[in-house]
Amino acid sequence: MDYYRLRGTGVSPGIAIGEVRLTEKVVFSARKETILADKASEELERLEAALKRTRKQLVQIKEKIRIKLGEDHSFIFEAHLLILKDKSLILGLRTKIEEDLFRSEWAITQVHNHYMTIFDSISDDYLNQRKYDVTDVLSKVYLNLQPTDAPKREDGTDSVLVAHDLLPSEAASRLSRGNVLAVALDVGGTTSHTAILARSLNIPAVMGLRDITHNVKDGDTLIVDGIDGEVIINPPLAIRREFIGKKKKYDDYRQELQKTATLEARTLDGVRFTPLANIELPEEVKVAQSMGAEGIGLFRSEFIYFQSAELPGEEDHFRIYSQLAQQAAPLPVYIRTIDIGGEKALPQMQIEKEPNPALGLRAIRFSLRERKIFRIQIRAILRASVTKNVSILIPMITELEEVQEVKILLREAQDELRQEGIAFDENIPLGVMIEVPAAAAITDKIAREVDYLSIGTNDLIQYYLAVDRSNELVSYLFKPLHPSVLRLLKFIIDSARKAGKEVTVCGEMAADPLSAIVLLGLGLKNFSMNPIFIPRIKRVLRSIEYGTARKIVHRALTLKTAQEIEEHILESVLVKHPTALLMGGEYPSA
Ligand code: PEP
Ligand code: MG
Repeated sequence: MDYYRLRGTGVSPGIAIGEVRLTEKVVFSARKETILADKASEELERLEAALKRTRKQLVQIKEKIRIKLGEDHSFIFEAHLLILKDKSLILGLRTKIEEDLFRSEWAITQVHNHYMTIFDSISDDYLNQRKYDVTDVLSKVYLNLQPTDAPKREDGTDSVLVAHDLLPSEAASRLSRGNVLAVALDVGGTTSHTAILARSLNIPAVMGLRDITHNVKDGDTLIVDGIDGEVIINPPLAIRREFIGKKKKYDDYRQELQKTATLEARTLDGVRFTPLANIELPEEVKVAQSMGAEGIGLFRSEFIYFQSAELPGEEDHFRIYSQLAQQAAPLPVYIRTIDIGGEKALPQMQIEKEPNPALGLRAIRFSLRERKIFRIQIRAILRASVTKNVSILIPMITELEEVQEVKILLREAQDELRQEGIAFDENIPLGVMIEVPAAAAITDKIAREVDYLSIGTNDLIQYYLAVDRSNELVSYLFKPLHPSVLRLLKFIIDSARKAGKEVTVCGEMAADPLSAIVLLGLGLKNFSMNPIFIPRIKRVLRSIEYGTARKIVHRALTLKTAQEIEEHILESVLVKHPTALLMGGEYPSA
């Protein structure tokens, strides 16, 4: 048994040790098999029976997943049922049997190949990926041609799931069984559906391992380290012991942090702050609350567009927002209208390639150009707002005219709904993201036009410091504690306070312990972040006084470099509260 270590991306923290279960890849027929002409109708019946069986299985699994994981995850099976009903697909299969006299296995293989060629010719990444859904459905039909009563491989035992990729449907059905200790995939990243699901089910996962499927076989022992993004195949005893220790430490750490979730969010001198969660799926609300989130500070709605091959309609949006609002109620939910365009291309539309996507047709710029799409989204958010806990959040505002334009469109949508007799929250708050430096510099003006502000420090810092947030060559310059950033943040937070408007930070900065102290010192009370980080930040902010944070910032604003500022915070905090930052530093990647 060979011992290897592979590096990937840790997408769901935690450590698990277990036996490998490789997901079987479906192998379609490699051999041309024909039938006699007088057997065609018998063969068609065989195909029909397999289609029927597949349909029944899909309906069953859809219902099972809906009960276990909710509508959103079961939706994928609806899409598969539609594929199964697709007239041209079924006709293709029948023709291959009736006219070409192919045996069903060979007919399915040929039709599958045909679809793969079509999908491969589509350059759009998202649509191209839909080919796996067709593979998924056809492989089920293929297996159902030979229904077997032989018991399936024992599925009940706990194991580590290893696969090249997992289709959302597979992820939903496999991960919900409760016997998956961890997940290791060749492909995928932090925002993939499987990653989100793994995080919400608390299953450690590493993705982007390239070729783990070629390096393991069923029964191998695997350590999956979702904290540091590593997978160890057939570890020797000493390594195993090391990771059992690391696992225990991490589990204790997690448990300890979890306790913080139920404690009150107050600084040592009694000042209230509000931890909020950034999420992408309604299913994440529960996990967020269990981590101590007092609301959803940022719902990234663009993920709705990445989940279906068609442009989502008003009902699709409405279903998701209602689920989100109801799950979170009475806690607040800030639904951000789509931040799409540029590199996050809308999968269903061909958008011209832009020379500089980060400075191009993104977010509200896109929405104001594609008004039909925007209108659908606004109407759906309004309809979901009857629970009275929904706010609308507009991303990438650059100038005041955009805010005014949005308000006109919002009013129009409200008038329409009123005329149609559809209920919505008449006082739904409208807020904007401050993430373009030009908007930041006129926060005092913008604040008067809106109900609240949300600072997107990821983009704000990227644009203010002219540092591409995802370019490793310049990432050393991406410094949230740069003195310029602090001055700008001070102006934004002060302007919001003077205008009497709430302000939140929803960029990664809110999840960093040192930065969170600075933000508190600047007067910020609402911290929105990936739910995993909430207990850590709560713990840090509960360990210091608001007064101390104010003093730290007062001095920090006089310093010249990010390093000086960082050292100053560290010294000031550690002198007064030596343990305040302990939990933050131990597992920074978790
Ligand atoms: C941000 O820019 O800080 C933000 C929260 O938005 P996103 O990361 O989705 O661009
Ligand atoms: Mg942003």
